[in-house]
Amino acid sequence: MTTPLMLTLAVLGHLLLAAHALRRGDWGLCAALAALPLLLLTRRGAARLVAALALLLGAAFWVDAGLGFVRLRLAFGQDWLRLALILALVTISGLGAGLWLLGRRAREIFRQGRGVELPQAAAFALAAALLAAARAKASVPVLLADRFLPGGTFPGAGWLEILALALYAAWLAGAFMDPARHWRLRPRVWALFSAAFFAQLALGLLGLQDFLMTGRLHVPVPALILAGPVFRGGGLFMAILFASTVLFVGPAWCSHLCYIGAWDDAASRLGPKAARPVPARWTLWGRLATLALTCGLALGLRLAGVSGWTAAWLAAGFGLAGVGVMLAVSRRRGAMAHCTAFCPIGLVGNVLGRLIPWRMRIDRAACTRCGSCARACRYSALSPQDIENGRPALPCTLCGDCVGACPHEAMRYSFPGLAPAASRAVFLTLVAALSAVFLGVARI
Ligand code: SF4
Ligand code: SF4
Repeated sequence: MTTPLMLTLAVLGHLLLAAHALRRGDWGLCAALAALPLLLLTRRGAARLVAALALLLGAAFWVDAGLGFVRLRLAFGQDWLRLALILALVTISGLGAGLWLLGRRAREIFRQGRGVELPQAAAFALAAALLAAARAKASVPVLLADRFLPGGTFPGAGWLEILALALYAAWLAGAFMDPARHWRLRPRVWALFSAAFFAQLALGLLGLQDFLMTGRLHVPVPALILAGPVFRGGGLFMAILFASTVLFVGPAWCSHLCYIGAWDDAASRLGPKAARPVPARWTLWGRLATLALTCGLALGLRLAGVSGWTAAWLAAGFGLAGVGVMLAVSRRRGAMAHCTAFCPIGLVGNVLGRLIPWRMRIDRAACTRCGSCARACRYSALSPQDIENGRPALPCTLCGDCVGACPHEAMRYSFPGLAPAASRAVFLTLVAALSAVFLGVARI
């Protein structure tokens, strides 16, 4: 008896929130909230956690809204008691259904995907929260749904895109929890993001302006994340975006989120299966040289008053040289020479990433020195000495390929205060959420 009642209250709780969104004219939010309880039909543990979160947040919302309504009625000397009682009932039923979904009986019913329910629900919630914040704060509509279905046609369409991207984040997080699956999936997800990024750029250049972020084009070369602001004396959007990803996931920009890095990854996969590492001196001195060259040149061009077009052509030339490195070196070695020896942002990500305590560690007791991890590492971060030391070298981007490759489970993510399995789960949950967010908003 309790189960059908609680499930009914859970569905009703969502529908009441949807009705409130409709009352405000937000059709997209109404549709997203009404669709949310359908996830419960999957019997997945993550669906119950997401529904519980929505109901608990909804209860907090009804308390806040109820107090506002009551104050308003009091100010106008109107009857408020009936309204307060109705809203209290709505709040209590939503709260009760939300708490029930977190309990033992609901855990037994929603048993699909047990073991990954928490990462999936967290990735869903984080992706939705970040996308909603970006949508609310940006000065231009950042989501394609809002651009193609503007307010007059379908108000709030962006909420449906947020729902779709949050579901994608949840699916990714679930798939990433299995090391072998993460190993296979990461390059595909990364390539999909890069393809979406450049497809939008191409459509924008063909005249479909909605596929561009603002219409102010710049050359899509990562080195410009630093060199661009040095040349222009402003325009820190990409630098801030890059720095925020470092804050969340250390150097993982270069293994999951960069639109060009996916090309180098693909080029290296055309080469030998066992990566032939780039010499260690190149991973530091090669990228220090390009960092000095790009930032020094940008400053010199600015001081000389050179036009933006000339600077853009030089930047495009640098980008093409990078593609040359991918084709000539990465493809031959099966290792990502562009990202580990040429791209200055890769070095900045590696160095700044050290400030954030995500690390990859080798359990030396479990490690047999078989070298499987080193053959899988495309970032040239696992020399025999690094393995002996129990930690990868500077170019490590926490890609996780070595975790799936190690037959002895000796490669581990680490974060202070967390066990290795929890460190990996939290890290990949963050990466999954960011991957979905980038798919939705990263464009030029
Ligand atoms: S090294 Fe450069 S191109 Fe490679 S993934 Fe990092 S930022 Fe992107
Ligand atoms: S050491 Fe492991 S996690 Fe680090 S870059 Fe190499 S394969 Fe990726």
